[in-house]
Formats: sequence, structure tokens, C-alpha cells
Amino acid sequence: MSTVDLLVKNCRLVQKDRIVDADLIIDEGKIKKISTGASKINSDRTVDAKENLVIPGCIDIHIHSREPHSPKTPANQEDFTSATRAAAAGGYTTVFDMPVTGAPPTTTLEGFKVKKGLADEKCLVDYAFYGGAGFANIDEIKSLAEAGVVAFKIFTREIEPADKQWMGVILSGGGSDTFYRVMKEVAETGRILSIHCEDDRLIGFLADRLKSEGEVKLSAYYKSTPNASEFLEVARSIRLARTTGARINIAHLSTAEAASMVKNAKSEGVSIYAETCPHYLLLTDGDMVDNLGPFGKMYPPLRTEQDRTALWRALEEGVIDFVATDHAPHPKEAKEPGWKNIFEAASGVPGLETALPLMLTQMNLGQMDIFRLVDLMSRRPARAFGIDGRKGGLEVGMDADFVVVDVNREAVLREEGMHTKSSAKIFDGWQVKGVPVLTAVRGEVVMEDGKVLGKPGYGEYVFAGRVEGKS
Ligand SMILES: [Zn+2]
Repeated sequence: MSTVDLLVKNCRLVQKDRIVDADLIIDEGKIKKISTGASKINSDRTVDAKENLVIPGCIDIHIHSREPHSPKTPANQEDFTSATRAAAAGGYTTVFDMPVTGAPPTTTLEGFKVKKGLADEKCLVDYAFYGGAGFANIDEIKSLAEAGVVAFKIFTREIEPADKQWMGVILSGGGSDTFYRVMKEVAETGRILSIHCEDDRLIGFLADRLKSEGEVKLSAYYKSTPNASEFLEVARSIRLARTTGARINIAHLSTAEAASMVKNAKSEGVSIYAETCPHYLLLTDGDMVDNLGPFGKMYPPLRTEQDRTALWRALEEGVIDFVATDHAPHPKEAKEPGWKNIFEAASGVPGLETALPLMLTQMNLGQMDIFRLVDLMSRRPARAFGIDGRKGGLEVGMDADFVVVDVNREAVLREEGMHTKSSAKIFDGWQVKGVPVLTAVRGEVVMEDGKVLGKPGYGEYVFAGRVEGKS
């Protein structure tokens, strides 16, 4: 009898629309067989899933590694190893890193190669990169796509930044004409253009006025970032996508107005996806002002209860396609100044270690079933971004990326003991029900019972297939 690498016994395997009691037989990193009878097989290693649910590994389409390190993102900050240790701990088997996380940015072929060289040595889980698409690098878009970026990212910022690194990922120096040209170029690659939709001219004007009036307390942040800012840029993005035929994703959608626009755009046949994050589903502006302070600052900001409710409705109706983390791991020192002046605090929160427990908890509360959860956190990301031949499902022949989740286990999320180097205050102390207990990437166990076992350098770059016309 031949021997396989890994046998996972007693799984309740979550497939597309059913749960199957089975054993997973894994060899050379792939699912070789799903056995519903007694498995008479020799394996180098056997894991007992103890009749827990086994779901496809989560895919986070939105993280910021803070690599390559630079004077602004020094080496004591998050790196590929700490970020992917957090991923393994949180049930993520693949992460997509954003283009302006350090220097050089992933806005040129050279930038792509430098970052990939670092990630190849440091990542514990599989990964891919976004390429920047902006004012200064329209000519690089095709070569970045050929090199293997999984998608592109643009911020709808028009004010020219002091830091020129950003020129390949914003509109700076251009307006809708530049936006149109970028979209058209990305459309030709077949890749998704993920868009950070905020109107920086409006935000800049409001923030300057508030500062000049000496209004810098926590609530001033909300006054500077009204829903109108997201509305205007989502509207522009949708109309330009319709004109150019680009496939777009609204990154971290946060408002009721934007959700309703995406819903209409989908019904008109625009090739559009929408992503939101656990913090927009679970927190509001009041939580920041009353409790979190600068640790609850991110952009776009936490919104009102009305927006939060609208996001859940959009999620239920299928308007929201992805739950991502927007893992933006700033150290505590970058957040603290915000207590005195909120405009001085860094924007962004970590999320890789909290997203799955939080969503499993919402599942236990009846907000969605396990199939929808897997759809939002693994299956749809894989399909939309063109990696569904290998990732985002538990079928024979696919990568053996899976997470054993104990949906009945209760725990308290604690900042201490997390693997991110960021200050994870945002969900500190939250009671959850449902936690990942084992994470495997291509058949290799990278986390078991909260202990990260994966080795830096094990993670591989995931190259996407062509995905034209799929939505
Ligand atoms: Zn982000």
C-alpha cells in the first residue's frame, strides 16, 4: 500500500452547499481523495479533526505587510513573517498584499521583484501582490500583469503627495481623465482594479478648517470624512467602469449610500465587486469616540449605526462579495498621539487574527450560515481573482489549504499573544464563539491549537489564471 503525506480524519467538510462527513487524504500538497468510508491508508501524519467543521483556508484580499522596510516602515514594524504568522493563527492560508506598504512600492516591475524576493523568504502562508495603478505608472500596468500581480489598486486621491512613492497608485496630477486611462489599461489585463474610494480634496478641506478652528478631538475625524466622500468616488468609479468595461472592486465599503449604488450597478450589469471589513460590520463611530480613541481610526472611518445596519443588509442580499481585513498594522506609538490630536494618529487597524473568530461568532448569532461565511472569506475571493483552480474550495486536485474550526469553543480576543507587531486594541476583550484550531497550507500544518508552526519561506506566490467575464 502506498503512503500519503497527510490523513485528516473525522472532518465535517464544508463544500459549496453541503457538509460531508469524510476523511481528507492529502499528498504532495493537494487533496488526493475525499473518503467517506473508513480510510485504509498509510499516511506519514494523521490529524484528527474531531468532527469539527473543516473549511477552505481563508483568503484575505487586502493586507498591508509594511514591506519592503523603509525609513517610514522600519524593520521593527510588521514584516512578511509577522503578518503571515498572524494569518496562520487566524485561519488565513493566502493573503494579497497592497502595493504601497514600504519602499520600493509595487508600482514597477522592479518593485514587484524586490518585494517578491523578500516575501519568498519570509512568508509562512501563500500570498500574491497587488500592483499599483496610478498617474505615474500607466505604462507599467501591462508588464506588472505579465509578471503576475493578482490585481491592481488605486486610491482616488488627487492631491499631489509629498511622498512620491504614491504617484503610481493615485490620480495625483490627473482627474477623471487619468482615472479613465488607468481603468482602460487595467481592463485590458483582465485583472480587477480595487479602488479606495475617498475624495481627498473634500477631506483635506474639511480637516484643514477643523484644525484651524482648533477642533482636533476624536469626533473631528468624522466631521472631516463624511459619507459624501465615499459616495462621490464610488459614483465616479461605477460610471467609469461602465464606460471602460473594467472589473472593479470597491475596497472596504463603509456606507449605506455606497452599498445602494453597488446594488444598482450590479443590476445594470457593471462588473463590480464590493468588499467590507469586520470593523465596519461590528463597530460604529460612537465606539471610537467612547472607547477606542485613535485605535479605532482607519480610513474610511467607522460610520453610523444606520450604515452598519445597511452593510449587513447588503451582505445578506449578496451586494457585498468579500469580507477582508484591511490589516494595517501600525505600532502603538503611531496611534497614541491621536488622543491629543486625532489628525496626528496613523490610520488603520490589524485584523488577520480576529476576523474569522468574529465572523464565526456572527454565524453563531444567526447573521449568516457557514456556506455564506466561506463564500465571503474564501470561495468568492478565489473565483473573482482567478485562483479558484487551486484555492477557495475543498475538492480533489485542489491545494490542501484548510482550516479546522471549533464553532462551539468560546474565547476572549486578547491583544497579548497575538502575532502581529501592531497594536491590536480594536477588538481586545471581545467574547467570541467559534475559533480556528488548525490551519494547513498545501497540506502543511502551520497552526495547531493557537501555536504557529509554519516556517518562514514555506509560503509560495500564487499566480492567477485569466478570469475575463467572470463575476
Ligand atoms: Zn488598505
